[in-house]
Formats: sequence, C-alpha cells, structure tokens
Amino acid sequence: MQTTLSKNAAILVVDDNALILQLVSSWLDNKGYRVSFATNGKQALSIAQTVAFDLILLDVQMPDLDGYEVCQRLKEIPETKNIPVIFLTAKSETEDLAHGYEVGGVDFITKPFNPVELLARVKTHIELKRALDFMKEQKEAELKESEERFTQIVEQTNEMIWEINSDGMFTYVSPGCELIYGYQPDELIGKKYFYDLHPEEGRESFKQALLTIFTFKKPFRELINAGMTKSGNLVWVSSNGLPVTDVSGNLIGYRGAEYNITDRKLAEEALRESELKYRSLIENAFDAIFLIKNGRYEYVNQHFCEITGYTKEALIAQPYSPKQLFAEYEDYLMEGIADLPGADFKDGLFEVLLVQKDGKLLEVEVSVVTLSINNRRSILGIVRDISGQKKMIRELKKAKDKAEEMNRVKSHFLALVSHELRTPLNGILGFAQILNSELLDQDLHHMTEVILRSSQRLKSTLSNLLDLTRIEASRLDVKYKPLDLSMVVQKEISFFFPMAVEKAIELTLEISAKDAVVVAEEGMLKSIINNLIDNAIKYTEYGSVTVKLYNRSLEQGTGIVLEVADSGMGIPDDMKTIIFEEFRQVSEGISRGFEGTGLGLTLTKKYVQLLNGDIEVCDNAPRGSIFRIILPLELEKSNAAPEHGESGSADTVHPKAKPVDAAKINPRILNVEDDLVSQSLISKLLRPLGSVETAKNAHEALRMVAQAQYDLILMDINLGKGMTGLDAVQEIRKMEQYKTIPIIAITAFAMESDRDEFIAKGCSNYLSKPFDNGALVNIVKSILSVDVENT
Ligand code: ADP
Repeated sequence: MQTTLSKNAAILVVDDNALILQLVSSWLDNKGYRVSFATNGKQALSIAQTVAFDLILLDVQMPDLDGYEVCQRLKEIPETKNIPVIFLTAKSETEDLAHGYEVGGVDFITKPFNPVELLARVKTHIELKRALDFMKEQKEAELKESEERFTQIVEQTNEMIWEINSDGMFTYVSPGCELIYGYQPDELIGKKYFYDLHPEEGRESFKQALLTIFTFKKPFRELINAGMTKSGNLVWVSSNGLPVTDVSGNLIGYRGAEYNITDRKLAEEALRESELKYRSLIENAFDAIFLIKNGRYEYVNQHFCEITGYTKEALIAQPYSPKQLFAEYEDYLMEGIADLPGADFKDGLFEVLLVQKDGKLLEVEVSVVTLSINNRRSILGIVRDISGQKKMIRELKKAKDKAEEMNRVKSHFLALVSHELRTPLNGILGFAQILNSELLDQDLHHMTEVILRSSQRLKSTLSNLLDLTRIEASRLDVKYKPLDLSMVVQKEISFFFPMAVEKAIELTLEISAKDAVVVAEEGMLKSIINNLIDNAIKYTEYGSVTVKLYNRSLEQGTGIVLEVADSGMGIPDDMKTIIFEEFRQVSEGISRGFEGTGLGLTLTKKYVQLLNGDIEVCDNAPRGSIFRIILPLELEKSNAAPEHGESGSADTVHPKAKPVDAAKINPRILNVEDDLVSQSLISKLLRPLGSVETAKNAHEALRMVAQAQYDLILMDINLGKGMTGLDAVQEIRKMEQYKTIPIIAITAFAMESDRDEFIAKGCSNYLSKPFDNGALVNIVKSILSVDVENT
C-alpha cells in the first residue's frame, strides 16, 4: 500500500532482461506506482530527462553502458541528479557495493528478487526522497522570505548598511547612504574608502585609528564620527562594525551600519553649551549659591566660598551642618535646609547671621527653595550679603531721627524767637501808635508811621513763622465753620486798594460764583487771600491784578475757585513748584530784588491742604502769573448760616467772671507784667479807664491781691523765673474775693491751644502780644462798662 508520501510516485525500471523488466514492472504497477522502463543505459538516460522520476531501479550488468556508468551520468545531469538510484544486481560483493555508492546509488537489491523486500525498499526510498524534497522546498522558501525581508529592511531603513574590504574600500552600501551622505550607493561602491567621507581636517588620524582597529579584527560599537555630505555639510554618525574573516581567520573586510545622529549631537552640544552658560552664570553670580542633597553639599559656587571662608573641597567633603553656618535661625528653616526627613519646611526668604570660618558674623538674606531633580529632593539656597544695606538702613534711620530732632529743635527755636521778639515789638507798636496819634508835627508823624509799618511787617512775619511752627508741630487747633468766601474776599481786598493806587496798578474783583460758602477757618482764609493779593501787587510793576471768584465742578461735587491774576514778572517754569517750599524765592541770595521771607506761599499751600483744597499756578497771557485756589463747597456743613465778618477778638469771657460794676468810679486795675516797656505801655493806655497798679512778678501780685481788692487783673503769663502767670491765676482764684474778678491773660505764646489752657485755668479773657492798642482798650472797656448782672 502506498502512503501519502509515496502516492503516484513515478519509477523508471532499467534492465536488459525483458522478463525481469516485466516482473518488476508488474509488482510496482500493482502497488499503484507509475512505471516507465528502459532496456539499456542510453534509453534510460534519455527517458530519465523527460519525466520527473521519484526513483530509478537500475540494472548493473547491461551491454554498452553498465548501471554504474548510467548512474554516474545521471548524477551529472541537473534534471536527474537528485533522483535516487537503486541498483539491481546479481553481485553482492563489497567492492561492487562500494562502487555503486561512489557513483551516487542509494541502495542495492540483489537478484533473485524477493518482491516484498523490493517493494519495501522502493517505498522507503521514495518516501525518503519526497521528504527530502519537501524539506528542501521549505528551506528554499524560508531562505527566499528571509532574503526578501532583509532586502526590504535594508532598502527602507534610515541607516546605512555597508561592507568594506580589508583595505577599507566600500563593497556594498545600502540606499540609506543617500539619506545620510547624499550619495547614491554606486557613487560609493568601489570608488570611495570609508574614511574619504570624514572631514578633511582630522581625516588622516581617523583613517589610522580605524586601520588599527582592523588589524586587531575587533568589532566596534557606537563609534561616533563625523562625515561630510556630498553637498559639503557636516553630519555626525554612530557606527557599529563586525570583522568578516575567511575560514582560515584572515580578515576579508568589515560589515556594519551607521546612522545619522547630527540632531542628537547638536542637541547635546546645545545642552552642554547651555549648561556651561548657566554654570558660569551661577559660578560668577554675585549671590552665594549652594545646593544641598541628602544632607550634603552637592554644589557651592565661588562666591559662597568667599562669603563663608571655606574652600569648595572642604565644603563638599563634609556633611552640611546648618548650625555651623548660621547663628540666628528658625529651627524649621534649618531642618529644611538640612533636608531632614519630615521637616515641616516651607520655601522662603530669611534674614539670618552667617558664621564665617573665622567666627565673624555677617548679616545675610537667605532664600531657600526646594527643588525636585530627577524625583530627588534638593535644597537650593541663595545667600546675599545685606550687611551694607542693613548698615545703610541703620544710618538712614539715625539720620531721620536726627532730622526729626532738628526739626523739633527748629520749631521750638522758632516759637522761642517769636516769643522773644513779640514782647519788645509790643512796646514798639504800642508807643508808635500813641506817638502817631499824638504827634502833630508832619515829619515826626511820618516817622512814626514808618515805625508802625515796619513793626506791622515784623509782626506779620512773626505770625507766619509761628503759624508754620504750629502746622509742623501739628498744633494748629483749627476751628472750622461755614463762611461766605465772597464776603471775606470783598473785605480783604479793600485793604489793598491804597497799595494798588500807590503803585498805579488796577485792582479789580469779579464775582460770578453763585455759591461761595466754604467750611474753613476765617484766619486761614484771610491769610490765603492776603498772601496771594499781596504777592500779585508786590511782583507787578505795572498793569493790573484781577481777583475772580467762580464755581467749578469737581470730581466730588462743586467747588469754588479763587483766582488771582497779575500782569507782573511771572514765574519761570522751573520755579513753579519750588516757590511753595519754605523760605524759597525766585530771586534768592544777596541780589534778590524783593523783600519777603518766602513763607507766604508755603503757608498758603498748607492752609489750602488743611481746607481739603488745591492750589495751582500758571502763566498769565501775555505776561504775569495766575494763582488759583480751589476749595470744595461742602453743602451739608454750609447749610448752617455762614458768618461774614470779624470772628470776634482773641478774648473769651470766662463763664465765672463777673463784669465790673459800671457805677464803680475809678476801678482798680492790677497789671502783672515783668517787662518794663510793656508795664509802662499798659499803664499809659489804661490810665484813662481806672487806677492802674503794677506787680512785676507772681509773688508780688499775690501779695497785692491779698491786701487789696482789684476790679480787673491783667496777667502776663511768662513772668521770667519762678511762678508763671498761670500759677498765679490759679492761686488768686482760690481766694474767695477773687472768684469772679475778670483776669485778662496777656501772652506772647500766641497759640490757640494755649488760649484754651488759660481759660481752663481760670483766666476770663485772652490777648496775644503784640496787641493792638485799641484792642486792649476795647477789651478793658467792655469789661468795665458792662451793666451789672445779678447772679
Ligand atoms: P515772599 O513773597 O515773602 O518771598 P512767598 O512764599 O509768598 O514769599 O513767595 C515765594 C516766591 O514766589 C516769591 O519770592 C516770588 O519769587 C514768587 N512769587 C510769588 N507770587 C508771585 C507773583 N504773583 N508773581 C511773581 N512771582 C511770585
């Protein structure tokens, strides 16, 4: 029975014996084989080439060509060489067998034949052949597939696969060479040595290095080298190569591959360059920088070494100890910097003391940041020396304290000077007024007028100085009330008409404001108006001064503008802000052309600010300046009826003071005054109103009031050494008979807050030096002539 492997097998039987031929053929036929036969060698050779036989049964002894010869020839013909040949022979000598195998036979069947044996052998050899054929076909198919795969990979890959001979000449390159070098494969093969592609510079040494590798027949991996493309650009490649040797171990060449790493190389170079750049930046940074990892210094820059006094090597070698480095620190900061596990550390900026190697302390600012580098925690610290800065701050603070102290001293000094000037000025003004009213001689009268004007100017300078002192000491006790600005302006401008006439300047007032009620202090308003009009006339040689009052809408409502425009000399642009500073004038120094202290505008601006207003200055066309004061109209407050006129004198009647009996003839007046000039002035002024006695200090006054009953006491507050006037008033008020006697405080300390204190301590009225003669006489008259009140 045929198996699948031997099914339909074709067999050629060759024998010159017709009987054997028939017999064997019939056996095979019976088994289903396709049988052909030949009766001699030549016939066998020709039939064997026409059909693909699976087996040839070949008789050895035949005339002409014997079986061995036929077999030998069959093995020489490509179409028949693989057909297994079984010899049919009568001989079974060893020599014959050996010869049969030598010429390519696979088996012998010895005559006379046993059909079972013959068929079994036929079947085995056919199956063997078919199995071999099958395996061969499979191998060939696999080989083909592998070849195809290899070719595809080689064709598709971006790498260049190459082979060189032992001289280094290319014998094969894959198409990838075009991608890398721009050459076609045939431009390289047989024409260029692998080192020809290397840049000219360094080509020779590269060639020698590779030839040395070749002599040792060593493989190489990831060999990075440079090459030039066909168009002359530099490329970087990474090459792998394996030596190829013959069976005797002689080097035939190398086989390998290389791929383009130019991008990677450039990226690496850029990275290296950038790292170098940052490293040198950090290294040369002005700040001291350190990096802590695992409780050790990972990196410190040069400045860190300089600031600490340690060398880089010393720092890197030892574990990091925050206590060694910083003297004043928060524990958690140090734990953080030390990178202690579980430290509750927050990044931040800290001021600490750095302990330098020699033990000196340095004030530094440390900024600490936690970094995560490759998932590992690191601490980056930046230390900055702030000792200079700190020293500067301390010095600045000292300077500021000193400046403030100086300012206090200045204010005190100004207050003192003002007081010391006021007392003598009182005498000058007072007597000049008396002389002015009594002297009939024209020349003398004129002279007293000059004295009076000069004293008035001195008085107003003193007032300005005192006001400035008060504002700076924040001691200005402002009493705000609704005031009709138009009334105040009309009144104040009237004082300037004589001055304007004298200078032949036209002075006009234009009021277009519908509402002019502001909440202010009258004294301040007057001072503002006077300063501006006074300056306008002072700095105008010819032309006009126009004062306007009009409304303007402001962000927070309606406002009122007081505008003073002149046709005078004008103010240069660079002086427009400076003139508002204390003691500053456009023309300064000994060559200045106008009198004045440079305080008027300073005060004006401060007053305007206290009134929540603004002041501005600009040029007037075609010449001169315009000053504008803009004040808010505070409607709620201004609902109250505005006051128009004089705010009353500086005196205030003490509620307990009882007016003097009008019927009293020649009332007794006690004047307590240490200054001789003031004593005689007051005596002279009050003599017509009563009998004036004088005490020159507090003790004398107390003695006198204890011995006599006075109807009015004038008390100077500053009485030189010993008890003050206030002390005396308090003592006097303790006496039953003086509980309600009017006491007028007279003082050169002209502060509003002082006045309140005087009243609180028992004075009934208040008058500041230098006073106007009329003011003193009026106040005394008003006290002495008031009708008796029954209390
Ligand atoms: P004073 O007038 O006492 O010098 P001010 O503070 O009032 O002080 O003025 C400061 C300076 O501003 C003046 O010295 C003057 O140079 C300048 N100035 C003020 N008003 C005018 C004006 N209307 N025209 C020109 N210059 C002025």
